[in-house]
Amino acid sequence: MVLKQEEINQWLVKQPLLNEIIDLKPVVWLNRDRKSMNKIHMLPLHMQDMLEAEQLWYRFAPFLENVFPETISTKGIIESPLRNIPNIKNVLDKRFSYEVGGELYLKCDNELPIAGSIKARGGIYEVFHYAESLAIEAGLIQKQEKYELFATDKFRSFFQQFSIGVGSTGNLGLSIGIISATLGFNVTVYMSADAKQWKKDLLREKGVTVQEFDGDFSEAIYAGRKNTIADPKGYFVDDEDSKHLFLGYSVAALRLQKQLEEQNIQVNENYPLFVYLPCGVGGSPGGITFGLKQVFGDHVHCFFVEPTHSPSVLIGLLTGEMEKVSVQDFGIDNRTEADGLAVGRPSRYATGFSKHLISGIYTVHDEQLFRLLALLHDNENIYVEPSATPGIMGPWKIMQSEYLKQNNINSKNITHITWATGGSLVPEAEMKRFYKKGKGLI
Ligand SMILES: *Cc1c(COP(=O)(O)O)cnc(C)c1O
Repeated sequence: MVLKQEEINQWLVKQPLLNEIIDLKPVVWLNRDRKSMNKIHMLPLHMQDMLEAEQLWYRFAPFLENVFPETISTKGIIESPLRNIPNIKNVLDKRFSYEVGGELYLKCDNELPIAGSIKARGGIYEVFHYAESLAIEAGLIQKQEKYELFATDKFRSFFQQFSIGVGSTGNLGLSIGIISATLGFNVTVYMSADAKQWKKDLLREKGVTVQEFDGDFSEAIYAGRKNTIADPKGYFVDDEDSKHLFLGYSVAALRLQKQLEEQNIQVNENYPLFVYLPCGVGGSPGGITFGLKQVFGDHVHCFFVEPTHSPSVLIGLLTGEMEKVSVQDFGIDNRTEADGLAVGRPSRYATGFSKHLISGIYTVHDEQLFRLLALLHDNENIYVEPSATPGIMGPWKIMQSEYLKQNNINSKNITHITWATGGSLVPEAEMKRFYKKGKGLI
């Protein structure tokens, strides 16, 4: 559905910020519908669901250790470090002529094993959840048994009769494809036109079927959903509407809580936590925000960031139409080099939570992604992919907005965490190209 000009004009009157969004200007939007945690009782998930999701990860840890040697050092737990990044903070204080108070940390999901991106959290969790339920139903395993069994030929040949499908701009496909093929499933990844060639090559190498589409992410999902569920033994991982992806992401909050304690970082009324999360359909940032809100309540403030060309969750929340509208309906092209964020329509499941929980959304130009990528490398020696960078600007965007005043927060005591969402699987030549482009823009 492309909206008629008349309908767009009505929206512009109701939500004047849409003028700037349609003009592809970077904006900061603060969410007036955010609720205090003690006033929210209607969310369909709770802390207990997160704790159960965490237990599933523990059950599969021996399997992961067995099959992916890179997880031996963490005993089969897929987790990333939290690093202080003071050098880039100094550089950005100068570049933006504004000194941000408090400390800036990077949550390095670019280093997550197996999938090399934040999709390791949601994607691997959902496939494990499905594999476990099939195996239990078939009487092959019980929850208290040793999950190394999932690495045996008996399990692999059992899973061969089932197929898994997923639509992806790249990274979700990598995560679902790699773990499903490892377990023995027949797996097909439906890739949108913006997916990078190396991601398709890598998946084919691992025995995954890759179907390419001319269209964007929503079209790849539509085709994938249709083809996959046509098979009675087909299971579709639906990035536009998945509770399991969401729960997999939410476990990050329990892990972060431990890391903050280990680094003696307090989170309370006097020491609030601000978190900046790159956003595509809103599933990974939504799941993590939900988790953090369960753990830290009103003391954590979560902001999403989207490319100016793909503000799907922003438009969904601003209009209140959620997944019913796409950026294309408003004449925005959904073309961005941030392939992980190149999404025109938000997740129905995740935005149902996010509308009550997030503090706001800001948008950034593509050029800024490359600048930040180069600056992060030059000043912290960390390489991430373009999609993983825009959260770094969060503190400068939000501290200069009305947010602190509205919420009566003292900027000096804030701990800022930027979520770096991907990068370690990017081939070196590709990363050099990104870096060079960023250097040229600085
Ligand atoms: C998928 C992805 C995101 C955003 O996650 P959504 O669940 O789509 O909102 C952010 N960064 C990277 C690198 C990604 O691959």
